[in-house]
Amino acid sequence: MQKNTSTKLIIIFFFTLVISTKMNANESDFIMTNAKIYTVNEQQPWAEALVVEDGKIIFVGNNQDALQYQNKNTLIKDMQEKMILPGFHDIHIHPVHGGVTSLQCNLVDIREISILLSKIESCVADKVIGEWVVGGGWSIDIFSPESLPDKKLLDTITNNIPISLKSSDGHSLWVNSKALEIAGLNLKTTDPKNGKIERYITSDEPSGLLHEDSAMMLVMKHQPKLTSEDLIDGLRYAQNLFHSYGITGVQDAILKLDPGDPYYGLEAYNFLESRDELNLHVITALFWKNGQALKPQLERFIETRKQQSGSDLIHATSIKIWQDGVIETYTAAMLEAYSDRDDNYRGELQNSPEDLNAAVAALDAEGFQIHFHAIGDRAIKIAFDSLENAIYYNGIRDSRHHISHIEVFQEEDIIRFKKLNVIANFQPLWGIRDEYITKHTHPKIGSERSQWLYPIGSVHRTGATIGFGSDWYVTSANPFEGIEAAVTRLEPNGLTTIPLGENEAIDLATAIKAYTLNGAYVNFLEHKVGSIEINKQADFIVLNQNLFNIPLSEINETKVLETYFNGQLVYKK
Ligand SMILES: [Zn+2]
Repeated sequence: MQKNTSTKLIIIFFFTLVISTKMNANESDFIMTNAKIYTVNEQQPWAEALVVEDGKIIFVGNNQDALQYQNKNTLIKDMQEKMILPGFHDIHIHPVHGGVTSLQCNLVDIREISILLSKIESCVADKVIGEWVVGGGWSIDIFSPESLPDKKLLDTITNNIPISLKSSDGHSLWVNSKALEIAGLNLKTTDPKNGKIERYITSDEPSGLLHEDSAMMLVMKHQPKLTSEDLIDGLRYAQNLFHSYGITGVQDAILKLDPGDPYYGLEAYNFLESRDELNLHVITALFWKNGQALKPQLERFIETRKQQSGSDLIHATSIKIWQDGVIETYTAAMLEAYSDRDDNYRGELQNSPEDLNAAVAALDAEGFQIHFHAIGDRAIKIAFDSLENAIYYNGIRDSRHHISHIEVFQEEDIIRFKKLNVIANFQPLWGIRDEYITKHTHPKIGSERSQWLYPIGSVHRTGATIGFGSDWYVTSANPFEGIEAAVTRLEPNGLTTIPLGENEAIDLATAIKAYTLNGAYVNFLEHKVGSIEINKQADFIVLNQNLFNIPLSEINETKVLETYFNGQLVYKK
């Protein structure tokens, strides 16, 4: 794979930054005064000073008391009224995969088809026969539902270099004829289980769009395998991006254990940790393979968790189960039929209720946390059912299971987070009335069901715990954009004017907590991080503006000036 020089330079630059910060070890003891510290600690919400020693917060309070800790080696930093927050915890994100994709043919945030095509053309220009153009991040909402992207668009760019481009939501793959030819896909190929090969209406000819993992893998397995260096470069890129946004903890939402898979990543994490370069708390959600036997999967998960138990920062304690797809491609599992089809189709569950019950009960009994992907109201209901079943068999334990995405609810299921002690893992940037919703979602489910799209406010009012994730690179990893969307239900850059859902906005303090302390809680780290409190690890960020003193519409413009991890400055603007 070729990378351009500027990318390499950026990586070298960040690498040097990390090394140089680590060398100033004596800077790890300091006092910060005159700050506006929002602690996310209910006992002491605001403070003006903090003291850090050996990577730990040893004091939070007023200036005068903080200065009592001063000795001749202590550095005193006058923060000039700047806001300080705990580091963010993004509990649904794809660090390695997102980083790798960002360094490939990166189509994220392109809003026009012509610009998209010229970007792809420039990716092809780098390649010679025998190589592949691999990338992703194109968004389905720039195409109309009647003219989804197809191979012909890509064939006009090249007929002899295979192109394989993942959609921003990760659920579709757009390929050209050359890629289909290499994969041996033609009009005789049948759809794999749980996957769909899009075809032209008049024939069975594959159109160049593949939906869901099993169909996408038909092509992806022929792509050149990612090298260890690719994965490490991707993770370094991601970590530096996260630090620039103030993120100091994550749940990697899919980690696969077979080398060569785009979601393979444990080796990269361990490499960075072994070099003392990892400045991120990482919980990995190991990928449950739908339709495969329980016992060997469970054994492998247990083995991996054991392997990681000696790590300070990387723990393999969560399991990702994909229970359906997405509404936009009719792969989300709904209770009632899709509104714009006449074949009574309601999508498929990726695991039958029986299989899911067995898997969830067994994983729960082994002490794993389950991290669900569930979008449609049927997938959500079945996920709750399986968790209820696990409680029946295993009893109540401190499991912290969470369900991600949770797009469309049957109203009666909203209360089940609180009832079953399950965390609602929302992607707040999705809960807006953008073209994704208006063009692709709303027509497929109709107005009645659209009342219960990403009902963050309703779930919050039940008293359930809410955590936030960006699903980067699906959407921006910037938590300030997510927080603004959560408190306004509007697109942070002003692209929408009507909020999505009357009462679904939450207040700022709740949104900040969802992205800090609650995220740490989901990762079983709330005793150590997630708030600014005595004896916690000094993970915090310094901002250029006080979120509580500005209009909600300006939250997305907030810049992180400094990010501290374990008392070390790991990012400075
Ligand atoms: Zn995801």
